[in-house]
Amino acid sequence: MAGILQGLSYFIRTFGCQMNENDSERIAGLLEAEGASKADLVERSDLVIVNTCAVRAKAEEKLYSFLGRLAKQTRGRDTLVGVVGCVAQVQKAALWEKKRLVHFILGPGHYDLIPEIVRDKRRERILVTSQSRLWREWPAGRVLHSNPWSAFITIMEGCDNFCSYCVVPFARGREKFRPGRMILDEIRELARRGVREVQLLGQNVNSYRDPETGGTFPGLLEAVAALDGIEWIRFLTSHPRTFATDLALTMARNRKVCRQLHLPVQSGSDAVLERMHRGYGRREYLDKVRILRDLMPEISLSADIIVGFPGETEAEFEDTLRLLEEVRFANIFSFRYSPRPFAAAAREPDGVPLDVKRQRLVAVQSLQKAVQIDTHRSFLGRTLTVLCQGRSKKGAGSFAGRSEGNQVVNFSSEAEPEGPFVRVRVTSCGPYSLRGERSGPDPAGPIST
Ligand code: SAH
Ligand code: SF4
Repeated sequence: MAGILQGLSYFIRTFGCQMNENDSERIAGLLEAEGASKADLVERSDLVIVNTCAVRAKAEEKLYSFLGRLAKQTRGRDTLVGVVGCVAQVQKAALWEKKRLVHFILGPGHYDLIPEIVRDKRRERILVTSQSRLWREWPAGRVLHSNPWSAFITIMEGCDNFCSYCVVPFARGREKFRPGRMILDEIRELARRGVREVQLLGQNVNSYRDPETGGTFPGLLEAVAALDGIEWIRFLTSHPRTFATDLALTMARNRKVCRQLHLPVQSGSDAVLERMHRGYGRREYLDKVRILRDLMPEISLSADIIVGFPGETEAEFEDTLRLLEEVRFANIFSFRYSPRPFAAAAREPDGVPLDVKRQRLVAVQSLQKAVQIDTHRSFLGRTLTVLCQGRSKKGAGSFAGRSEGNQVVNFSSEAEPEGPFVRVRVTSCGPYSLRGERSGPDPAGPIST
């Protein structure tokens, strides 16, 4: 049966986090189920959707420069343009008034309207940004996963934490949880189609509560681990305040849960953490790290760091450097603070000059780089199980993948890997990746090393 968008070509540009990536996969799945097909260039598409990120000022600026280029690229053409996601939600008025090339603006949670808006195109401009406290389920099977072996699965959306710097509770709304049976149905179907790794997504997965059964996140994790075919399970993001020992124990008990955790600390200073309304202090954070490492000595930890939060003194910043030295994260994502709309901290004077923020970011990144070089050296000569992600840009015989600890592993192989998992002997490394060669027969499953 022909869909309502037969013959239409679409292009989606995605900014931001894994949840946006997953939302774009869902939008693509909906469009293709109605007969549309993907175009590789804006100039060749009838529909352009920009899925936006509002978390930092820089992310938002990317939208405006993309729209600037888009205006030129689509001049004289009949292209339909939609802006969706977090900037659509928090900057709707500005987009509506100033960006006349945008035909529809949809906040998160309204993407199922897209096929009909596109079919009825151009009668009027459309804006839908209402927010709900209830989970809205997606039509089953309408997700176009971009990797055949690994899939993102959204399990909750929104956030009730209101950290003082953050726009997310305003962009994604309050917490909404997806029923466990829907999550498990989706994963079961993916496993049947060959997916071996799932990454459970939510702004704050620890606070997950099954709206039908009251089940908790550790319970959900156990249920996913019990599914045949699924070999690696990851999840993000965990808020340190609500990361409890029972979750660490569940991870330790289930070998399918990767020995890897993203636990954003943001700052190493108690005073800054307090002003950020994070709800934990440096000591509590370090205690959680110690419990995790006691239970899973090989666990690789990552975090987000903000430098230059309003009023951050040199001594407070030093506390962050000392924490990085103490924890020795496998990887961090570090950002300069930027004031965001609706966030409480944006009402205070920013305080830290731009050049100081820049210097602090460089200091954080160079310290972390040294830690990573050192850690990566300890992998030399070891053989790791790697989940393939496909060919790498380095030319014929080069492939890329990720280890259980979520490190990027580039490797050479004469033949294209057939299965999801290969064994790679690490022969060299840089600060941001490991390199090696495929070694021995492929494992039947992800034997850990
Ligand atoms: N839910 C996750 C984070 C989501 S936002 C958590 O609680 O950890 C991703 C990261 O962006 C945050 O962890 C933070 O480091 C960064 N971030 C958020 N708002 C920011 C701002 N106003 N300025 C700079 N970085 C920010
Ligand atoms: Fe933002 Fe804090 Fe919620 Fe994370 S927990 S999304 S940083 S408000």
